[in-house]
Amino acid sequence: MKFIETRGNEAGFDKEVAFSYALLNPSASFGGLYVPKKVPHLDNDFIISNHDLSYKELAEKILKIFEIDIDDGVLKEALSLYDGFDNPSDTTPVVKIEEGLFVNELYHGPTRAFKDMALQPFGHILSDLARKGEKKYLILAATSGDTGPATLDTFANKENIQVVCLYPDGGTSDVQRLQMVTQEGKNLKVIGIHGNFDDAQSTLKSLLASSTFKAELQKNHISLSAANSVNFGRIILQIVYHIKSYFSLLNQGEIKEGEKIYITVPSGNFGNALGAYYAKKMGLPIEKILIASNANNVLTDLILKGKYDIRERELILTNSPAMDILKSSNVERVLFDKFGAERTRELMRNLNDKNHYELTKEEHGLLQEDFDAVYCDDAYGQKIIKKYADNGYVMDPHTATCFKADEKLKTKDLKNVICSTAEWTKFAPTMLNAINQDDKKYSDLEALESISKALNIEITPSVSGLFGKKVLHNKIVAKESIEAEILKFINS
Ligand SMILES: *Cc1c(COP(=O)(O)O)cnc(C)c1O
Repeated sequence: MKFIETRGNEAGFDKEVAFSYALLNPSASFGGLYVPKKVPHLDNDFIISNHDLSYKELAEKILKIFEIDIDDGVLKEALSLYDGFDNPSDTTPVVKIEEGLFVNELYHGPTRAFKDMALQPFGHILSDLARKGEKKYLILAATSGDTGPATLDTFANKENIQVVCLYPDGGTSDVQRLQMVTQEGKNLKVIGIHGNFDDAQSTLKSLLASSTFKAELQKNHISLSAANSVNFGRIILQIVYHIKSYFSLLNQGEIKEGEKIYITVPSGNFGNALGAYYAKKMGLPIEKILIASNANNVLTDLILKGKYDIRERELILTNSPAMDILKSSNVERVLFDKFGAERTRELMRNLNDKNHYELTKEEHGLLQEDFDAVYCDDAYGQKIIKKYADNGYVMDPHTATCFKADEKLKTKDLKNVICSTAEWTKFAPTMLNAINQDDKKYSDLEALESISKALNIEITPSVSGLFGKKVLHNKIVAKESIEAEILKFINS
């Protein structure tokens, strides 16, 4: 299958490209993204014949349906990385927490956030393509805390790839910071910057526009790629776990074949939700995808009012930092799928130039066929964490934003699967605030130990082990010094 561009085709870009090309070169014409030319359809037999496959077998089947140009052997190796998750025979456990309500635990990989689901195999595939093409790639990542560790872990010591990861000093949890600064790998560089996540991201953007920076890369024969969810290679791997959750419900006898379900997604850049959207389009019986946001509720407004408007908004720092986003990149792929390239280009141009766009009534109706939305503020999220912890189920603050969707948005009596995107251990101080109903400042270690004792749960060994590990990256610099730091690294 070929891949095409969301904003139409510009001179100098191929009209359609192979999967491997889109993976290595994720930016398309006019600043757009790559999408499959046609989303394939699963027939009824697919569900009947595949519901008891293991996660990696199912992933292989689904990726092959997209006819991607990745060698069988490489694909198998990449997907076998799921064997390193907590339980290889149940990579993404679907846990019943109440009648009709389930949690799809997507965080059982090495860095304890759902980013591993896509990034683990993605890193292997990308590095293999780089090596075979005899090219070197630099991956620049700005992180609010989960993308960084997952990107570093997957690319550590991989051939032909270098990674530079920027994080806001003081803007992540201790666990997230330690996951990054203790990460081994000669090809990795982690830099803290004075400022917030927006500063880290805008520093990256200005770097990508800097001609001296680009000339230096060229001199070193290094190309740029990206490992965030603008890369379709991430998205394709995020379709799988939604389909798998449906199969898990079938296998648990909770639903019958063909019965519809809700899927609820705590959303930021909309990659996870887009995976669910493609699964629905492929024919998975999903009634609606419920989009949960935090106080940065741009997506709620888009889905409820048909307007994307950030003119009056300032980013609010919340308990669910991975969802603190105003420009949500993957909405664009839904716009393209529904309204075509010309309209997408127009809408995205409005967003870039004027900080807003508005859908027509008809377009808004089409969006609401697949999505509904609600947002959840920190106070409500904390209540949810407390309520379920008291009943024996511990969830992180991102996952907690989903419960309001279950309470408010279901118009039919169908099962609801909430995507759980991180393990509680990554946000222990917030968790302890919720459980103790206080707003004291706890350190991560103190909070981890206190929760572990109070709730009688184990701290994941890879997390408790972080506190005794050697710090390998201790650079914290001003924005202005980033370019020099990165050039020093790639020249070393
Ligand atoms: C990245 C992330 C999200 C948001 O996912 P998107 O695909 O960007 O919408 C939600 N929760 C956690 C814990 C994350 O790390």
